[in-house]
Amino acid sequence: MHLSAWHKARADAVEWWDGFKTYDRVYMSKVFTFSSDVETVIRANEVIRGGTGYKDYGSLPPEIEATSPDYSMYPHVTHAVGFLTRGCIRNCPWCIVPRKEGEIRPASTWEEIKRPDSRDLVLLDNNVLAHPHGLEQMSRLRWIRFVRLSCDTASMLPVIEQAAAYMREAGIAPSRFWCYMLVQDVDEAHRRALALDKLGITPFAQPYRDYDGGEPTTEQRRFARWVNMRAAFKSCKWEDFRG
Ligand code: SF4
Repeated sequence: MHLSAWHKARADAVEWWDGFKTYDRVYMSKVFTFSSDVETVIRANEVIRGGTGYKDYGSLPPEIEATSPDYSMYPHVTHAVGFLTRGCIRNCPWCIVPRKEGEIRPASTWEEIKRPDSRDLVLLDNNVLAHPHGLEQMSRLRWIRFVRLSCDTASMLPVIEQAAAYMREAGIAPSRFWCYMLVQDVDEAHRRALALDKLGITPFAQPYRDYDGGEPTTEQRRFARWVNMRAAFKSCKWEDFRG
C-alpha cells in the first residue's frame, strides 16, 4: 500500500498483477515462509520480492515507508492500519521481529495513522506497551473491539494477569481479551491455556513453525484445534479430545 501510494504520486499506473499482461515492474510479497507462491511465469522487466516469507529481513526505504498507504487497493477495508512503534525490547528465539526491526522505537503517532474517512485504527505493533511513546499514544485511544495479547511462555502469565486486572479496572470486559499462545511443548501449552481460561481470557493456539519449513507435529496441530474450537475447548478435556 505504501509502494502503491509512492508510485501513484509519481504518476505511475498501479494495479494488481494480471498474468495476461506485461509490466515494467512487479512487486511480490509473502508474509510466511509456508505461504504459497505464484507458480506462473511473471512477465515484467523487473520483479522485486520482499517480506519475511521470502526471507527478506529488510524494510522499505524511509521515504516510501513515510508515504500514507493507498487504501484504495483494499476497498472493503474501512479502518486505518499502522504501527505506533517498531521493533521490540525482547529477543525471543522463535521471533523474527528483533532480527527484522531491531530495538523498539517510535514509528508514528495515531494522528499520522488515522484515515480522514474513518475513526477506526488497527494497530499492528509487536510490543506497544514496552515504549513510552506507545503507552502515551494508547492512553489517548479507545478500544474498539478486541485486546490482543500474547502469552508464549508460562513466565508471562503473571504479567498477563496484571494486565487483565488493569484492563478490567478500566472497564474492559474479559470477553474482549484474546491471547495468542505459541505451542511448542504441548503439556506446558496445555497448562498455559487452562490458566488463561481461568483468567477469563480466550486463548488462541499457534503451533510453532520454523523459518526453514519445519512443520508442527500432529499433536501440536491437534492441540491447537482443541483450543481454537471454542465449543470443544469449553466442553471437553484435552485428554478426551479426539478431533
Ligand atoms: S516479545 Fe513478541 S515481538 Fe518481542 S521478540 Fe518476543 S515474540 Fe517477538
